[in-house]
Amino acid sequence: MTTLRNLPSVDEILQTQTASDLISRFGRPLTLTAIRETLDEARARFKTDPKTDLPSIERILSSAESHLSAWTKPTLVPVINATGVILHTNLGRAPLSDATIRAMEFTARGYSNLEYDLEKGSRGSRLIHAESILQRLTGAEAAVVVNNNASAVLLVLSALANKKRVIISRSQLVEIGGGFRVPDVMKQSGAKLVEVGATNKVRLSDYESALEEPAALIMRAHRSNFKIVGFTEEPELKEIVDMAHNAGVFVVDDLGSGALVDTAKYGFAHEPTVQESLAAGADVVCFSGDKLLGGPQAGIIIGKRGLIEKIKKHPLARAVRADKTCLAGVAATLLHYLKDDAEQEIPILRMMSMSLDQTRGRAEAWQVELGQGEIVKGESTVGGGSLPNESIPTVLLSLSVKSPDKFLKKLRGQNPPIIARTENDKILLDPRTVLPEQEIATLEGIKRALTS
Ligand SMILES: *Cc1c(COP(=O)(O)O)cnc(C)c1O
Repeated sequence: MTTLRNLPSVDEILQTQTASDLISRFGRPLTLTAIRETLDEARARFKTDPKTDLPSIERILSSAESHLSAWTKPTLVPVINATGVILHTNLGRAPLSDATIRAMEFTARGYSNLEYDLEKGSRGSRLIHAESILQRLTGAEAAVVVNNNASAVLLVLSALANKKRVIISRSQLVEIGGGFRVPDVMKQSGAKLVEVGATNKVRLSDYESALEEPAALIMRAHRSNFKIVGFTEEPELKEIVDMAHNAGVFVVDDLGSGALVDTAKYGFAHEPTVQESLAAGADVVCFSGDKLLGGPQAGIIIGKRGLIEKIKKHPLARAVRADKTCLAGVAATLLHYLKDDAEQEIPILRMMSMSLDQTRGRAEAWQVELGQGEIVKGESTVGGGSLPNESIPTVLLSLSVKSPDKFLKKLRGQNPPIIARTENDKILLDPRTVLPEQEIATLEGIKRALTS
């Protein structure tokens, strides 16, 4: 009669070559855990049904290997973005330039003068690394880089407006993706929200009335991910700034995307630029590092020296500070703008500036390589809470498949996973957002999905 005594022991299992191989791949403690867990499962199965066969050593090791693979498989993996959404927030926003990656790598790999003044041989500031380049690039008096733009807004308001009134137009009480709501962030900072105007119309006189009582600042938040159309009215930033300054009140402009170049030249609407905000006289301007700037996740705050100093000294600044790889990456990305090679080097700008002929050429090459599909016209978008409803023409490869949803799932099951979209039961693949070095993997993945 089979009893649990017939189950191989851990020691017996460890004698095998397969077990040694697992130990060298996954380490001894984890392999032991996997073997013990597999044996426990076998015992439990046997107890509920004594007629089941006890597993052999080979079967135990193969189950243990499945456990080990599942436990050690990274959950964060590269994917191929064939959606045509350039700043896809769910897919990690902006891919970085080679120089940016190199800069982030050297800081990650070894020691650096992050907070060390090489001249004096004593403690320095981590903030100077991106500051000087931001000053040169934008003409701003001072700058701070923090973890992301959500923390930038929270920090700015906490440092400049705690317990004080902050005036903002009702048309700007926005929610950005991931639950970032401007009114909630203002509350969190301790600022007192003073809403003016109506959803679609705000006039200078609305701000003027609100300024009759003392206020810390007027805030402008860019409507990054939606548009108000129809009967709308809003004063120019310059008009708001002039009125605020007359009343001795600052203006903070949360730009969101923070374009440094005019997106209109790629066929999109004009996204307000950092330079325009400063030119209009905004005292503090903040924006994301990984939206239209095309760099790593960061929040960039620039503006008047006195205010930036106050922001730097606020306790929250330490809590939301940028790490060394981020600072190195932001500086390297900004350098592209300074050297005027951003369009060649920054992937998202390359994608935005890709011509229709280029996307057509790639879509046609894919069609030839796959031996199927139709070349169709379509639209690429920016996404990532930038330029809502805005798109530029592109050329897509459209595939007819039996079940589009199942096919999308098959594409996602490839290694690397391919993310595409469907429209009218067709699979649409946009070459614009597929990185050139991913081209071969993309075609191989699609071929496997088509034949499986
Ligand atoms: C995106 C955005 C933010 C948040 O920026 P993150 O870098 O994603 O934290 C804040 N304000 C506006 C207007 C935005 O568009």
